[in-house]
Amino acid sequence: MKIICPSCNTANRVPPNKLGDHGKCGRCGNALFSGQPVTLTSVNFEKHSAMSDIPLLVDFWASWCGPCRQMAPAFSAAAQQLEPRVRLGKLDTEAEQAIASRYRIQSIPSLILLANGKELSRTAGAMPTSSIVAWTNAALP
Ligand code: ZN
Repeated sequence: MKIICPSCNTANRVPPNKLGDHGKCGRCGNALFSGQPVTLTSVNFEKHSAMSDIPLLVDFWASWCGPCRQMAPAFSAAAQQLEPRVRLGKLDTEAEQAIASRYRIQSIPSLILLANGKELSRTAGAMPTSSIVAWTNAALP
């Protein structure tokens, strides 16, 4: 399976049965799964959303949004539960307006689950960790 390194954005090949074995990136040596959401930008968004063999759950947020800041710890905790089946990433809608408008984000926080570049599902509004995990599991193919 192709897994994108959260540190250097290099595509690593990982056997499916070794996904949970705390593998390291062949290029930079950092962990392929750190239990933390990746910061998504125009530089790495395509790689994580379209070139990875695991789905990407994106938190569209902004620093001025109170509910977004409130949900941040819950989203980080969800990463620990959903990795390595799903990659979690955060997209700052102020810093990356082109991506936010491409996905027609109307309210934040919004969560969108992507796989192979396609949108599987989306939801809006802050959620606790258990709801983020349950919603994602239900939306996975
Ligand atoms: Zn790397």
